[in-house]
Amino acid sequence: MSFSNLPSSRQINQFDVIVIGSGAAGLYSALCLPSHLQVAIVTKDEMKTGSSNWAQGGIAAAIAPQDSPQFHLEDTIKAGAGLCDRSVVKFLVENAATSIESLVEMGVAFDRQGQNLAMTKEAAHSHSRVLHSADTTGKAIINTLTARVLASPNIQILSQALVLNLWLEGDRCQGVSLLHQNQIVWVKASAVILATGGGGQVYARTTNPEVSTGDGVALAWRSGAIVRDLEFFQFHPTALTKENAPHFLITEAVRGEGAYLLDLSGYRFAFDYHSDGELAPRDVVSRAIFNHLEKTTNSNGANVYLDLRSIPTERINYRFPNIIKVCKNYGIDVFNEPIPVAPAAHYWMGGVATDLQGQTSIPGLYAIGETASTGVHGANRLASNSLLECLVFATQLSQIKIESNYGISQSLGKAKIVESKAWNHEIGTILLIRQSIPTLMWHSAGIARSQEILERAIAQVSFWREKLATLDVAKYLRDLKPNRAIQFPAPNAEKQLRIAAETLNLVDVSYLILKSAAWRTESRGGHYRHDYPQVSSNWQFHTLIQSDRIYSSGEFSDRGADSKMARVN
Ligand SMILES: Cc1cc2nc3c(=O)[nH]c(=O)nc-3n(C[C@H](O)[C@H](O)[C@H](O)COP(=O)(O)OP(=O)(O)OC[C@H]3O[C@@H](n4cnc5c(N)ncnc54)[C@H](O)[C@@H]3O)c2cc1C
Repeated sequence: MSFSNLPSSRQINQFDVIVIGSGAAGLYSALCLPSHLQVAIVTKDEMKTGSSNWAQGGIAAAIAPQDSPQFHLEDTIKAGAGLCDRSVVKFLVENAATSIESLVEMGVAFDRQGQNLAMTKEAAHSHSRVLHSADTTGKAIINTLTARVLASPNIQILSQALVLNLWLEGDRCQGVSLLHQNQIVWVKASAVILATGGGGQVYARTTNPEVSTGDGVALAWRSGAIVRDLEFFQFHPTALTKENAPHFLITEAVRGEGAYLLDLSGYRFAFDYHSDGELAPRDVVSRAIFNHLEKTTNSNGANVYLDLRSIPTERINYRFPNIIKVCKNYGIDVFNEPIPVAPAAHYWMGGVATDLQGQTSIPGLYAIGETASTGVHGANRLASNSLLECLVFATQLSQIKIESNYGISQSLGKAKIVESKAWNHEIGTILLIRQSIPTLMWHSAGIARSQEILERAIAQVSFWREKLATLDVAKYLRDLKPNRAIQFPAPNAEKQLRIAAETLNLVDVSYLILKSAAWRTESRGGHYRHDYPQVSSNWQFHTLIQSDRIYSSGEFSDRGADSKMARVN
């Protein structure tokens, strides 16, 4: 293993803390942990490949004189459609200013208006409170945090290392197994922090990067952790929709600055669906586009248009240089023509259930960022609250109480060399399932859902899960035992194991989303059902899953979820 800050001759297999993921949540967590602890950041690709690096619009904080955390709290709770945990939201908004101060102090170059930080207003925010760095805010934050991490002697980085499993001893998480440079190794730690981001790759249309395969939720669930509210997925209304182009996000801030939506005939339709038009909450605007397209076209791949021509040219140049550049790459001149857009899966409100300290239901296992369900977002996230959540909850880790065990644990021996595994004949099946999941999920658990279609999709995904379980490569991954490292002489074994591991995660996560969506017979926030189109007070509950049991949280009130849970099947 080649950790960034270690000479290659030193092989360490025991850290105080392992952080899985190098997005905003992972990097900031590592920086907030007490500096006497030895920390490993393990990330499955290069350092800067998570959603954080792609965040455009900005980060919310009620720091303007006319604003207040109370307004921010009310906006967040309103967007959350009855499922936010008020005490947790209060914690988020009241700690926003400190997190921003810390970023500014570290050198994040937010845009300024004179001496002051510039702020914009995004959909469903009552005040201008979104700080930004042009339209590449995530990049500005990640560059700064990465530089800090690289300069921290107590933090080691292992990139291109895919975490395969959590390592449990009794009911306690005490490390991970990971795949790196043709080896599977086991690394111990007193605490493991999941910061693996979202799961947008389960959908055919997503703004998320390739690494967003829901690994954290899948790993935690398979280890017995409680996962929560997985049916709530936010579909961003405006992703670039053009043949051979990625579903590149066109930030909400563009509509905040005055851009509007037009249909194919040039009609501005958003006000037909909500009195706030283009600035209605995300789920409302996404459904408006979806319904409008259903009404006006029958084409599956159809799109509407986002017209920026009412925004002054200098303003577009100043605020959205990256959008101008990306659109130009795909032949669109945003100054003279509207951008073809349609909704795409964007943000997963659900995740691994945690308390205010990031602690999951498994001792020793923490979750931070998009992979966690802290109670902040409820059924629908308020724009620009997610980067903030990553930072505010990572700060909580400064209080972590663990013993330092850094060094080499007894089991580090010479790697056992395994002959080339014969998985070649199975890869075709795995790839076929990998490619089929997103289309199935888009059509069955996308913007509009119904019992019949969900049940059919559950049957299909169950079939895939069973099929995968019979494959040798899946059995191999399932039966790995924490002992000596395993080395593969054939380089393609690593590639095959990686495809298999991510596909297993995707089918598990798809299964959990479908189960949760079929379970909730109402419409709320990011979960809309054709057959139950109304919000129901009977469903003022969280959906919890542990192993094969699906639960409702106890009676839910604005003051927070009752910890009592009822077993329902
Ligand atoms: C296009 C886009 C624009 C956005 N704009 C905004 C915005 O303006 N404001 C806002 O607040 N939010 C925005 N969001 C949402 C926000 O960016 C994310 O919610 C947030 O950045 C998530 O951070 P994270 O650290 O939890 O995950 P990520 O940044 O996604 O990082 C996850 C990390 O985990 C690693 N990883 C995953 N699985 C494994 C594994 N098995 N083993 C090892 N490593 C693993 C990944 O490689 C990656 O490094 C946007 C999201 C997207 C996609």
